[in-house]
Amino acid sequence: MFSSGELHRRGIFKVAGGFAAALGLSRTRSAEAQGAPRPAASESGVLPTRGEFVVRGGHVLTMDAGLGDLPGGDVHVRDGAIVAVGANLNAPNAESIDARDMIVMPGFVDTHWHLWCTALRLIIRADDPADGYFPTTLRVGRYCTPQDSYIGVRLGVAEALLSGITTVHNWSHNTLSPEHADAELQALKDIGVRARFSYGSGQGYAADKPMNLGDLARVQKQWTSVDGMLGIGACLRTPGLPGTRGSIPVELFRTEYDAVRKLGLQATIHCGPKGLIDLMGRNNLLGPDMLLVHPQGMTADELKMIGATRSPWSTAPVIEMSYSAVRNGTIQYSELDGMGVPVGLSIDASAATSADFFNVMRALMWSDWQRSGAPLRLKPRRLVELATIEGAKLLGLADKTGSLTPGKRADLVMIRTTDINMAPMQDPYYAMVFHGQPSNVDTVMIDGRVLVRGGKHTSLDVGKTVREAAESTRGIAERSKRA
Ligand SMILES: [Zn+2]
Repeated sequence: MFSSGELHRRGIFKVAGGFAAALGLSRTRSAEAQGAPRPAASESGVLPTRGEFVVRGGHVLTMDAGLGDLPGGDVHVRDGAIVAVGANLNAPNAESIDARDMIVMPGFVDTHWHLWCTALRLIIRADDPADGYFPTTLRVGRYCTPQDSYIGVRLGVAEALLSGITTVHNWSHNTLSPEHADAELQALKDIGVRARFSYGSGQGYAADKPMNLGDLARVQKQWTSVDGMLGIGACLRTPGLPGTRGSIPVELFRTEYDAVRKLGLQATIHCGPKGLIDLMGRNNLLGPDMLLVHPQGMTADELKMIGATRSPWSTAPVIEMSYSAVRNGTIQYSELDGMGVPVGLSIDASAATSADFFNVMRALMWSDWQRSGAPLRLKPRRLVELATIEGAKLLGLADKTGSLTPGKRADLVMIRTTDINMAPMQDPYYAMVFHGQPSNVDTVMIDGRVLVRGGKHTSLDVGKTVREAAESTRGIAERSKRA
């Protein structure tokens, strides 16, 4: 899992050496304290190198307004960057990747995902209130070791890649210790996904206790220099009146938000309680550096506050149509879009649903369709924009990813159009949104590394990932029962 030899080869020994030592200590401490077996090593395979490729003859959707679509186009990639996009590109030294009968497009960008708890799907039941997602994560979250967090994140991202997701916003609301933060970041790094890690506090953390802002600064300093692949944010607890369940006092929230702003980071919170946006607006707690999650249940006045402050939103339509629709109302996408407020799409929790971004696009389309009636208002092309370039803008990553633009990093996916559920294809956007599924994803390249080929991982051991996920969750469940 944390081989210092491999880290040394990658030239980040200074960062990772201290981390590995610290994590080794903490693992022993927490394992002894919780009676857990000593975790087995679980190092991922070495990532494939960044080579020189030309992806040839695909139906290229650049998602770059200036470049448009190129049926029968090529994408030239060298050392992790997109060099050129066009027809019949001349690149004699490049390895050719045949993309005929495939859509070639930027990878999907997730904007909010609790990766740590992915493996808890072994014990979560939405059809039993006692074992639903929320009671389960709250009950067992505190018994996760750093190794469990590593395994959960790895399981989630392994599925993400097979769904064509190349960027994840890992919303870590179970950052129990500095070692847990490092373990989650290490998992992201080992798999090679582009990611933001938003530092949080542990499940069940006291509402009057400040989050570990010192360690947030430490993580920002240590990890953002790693390969340009990882960014840092902060997930804060929802502000509310004292005594409101699951909320923290407004003044504590303000202290944390100010500290996060000073570090130049974006904060993010879950929305849900009625009147929350009104409370935040009146307390000057909204703005572009406050990424809000779950746009539901806002009054007309609250929507005006959002329009005035340009606070961006992440919507997780599959979860919002199931878990929180009854409590919080329908998804207010059209209101936000009408005001030009930035919106991105998200998985939220693959312990409660699947990491299927085709389904995420479809769910938002259905939700908006149900609200608007005929004709279909939210068009497939717009949904693919939300799933790619708009998500990248939301996370401040549009200079690196979200479109196939020369100069950006090479985060691209190839999607088969001859599969039984896609063929015969007329319009690639329509086909993806109405018919697409993760099994159609053939190839995934992130930062110029081919991580999925022929629908299979090139470096990640799926059997081991699944096996260790089950062992990890059984261990967490046992420790929580003994406590
Ligand atoms: Zn969430």
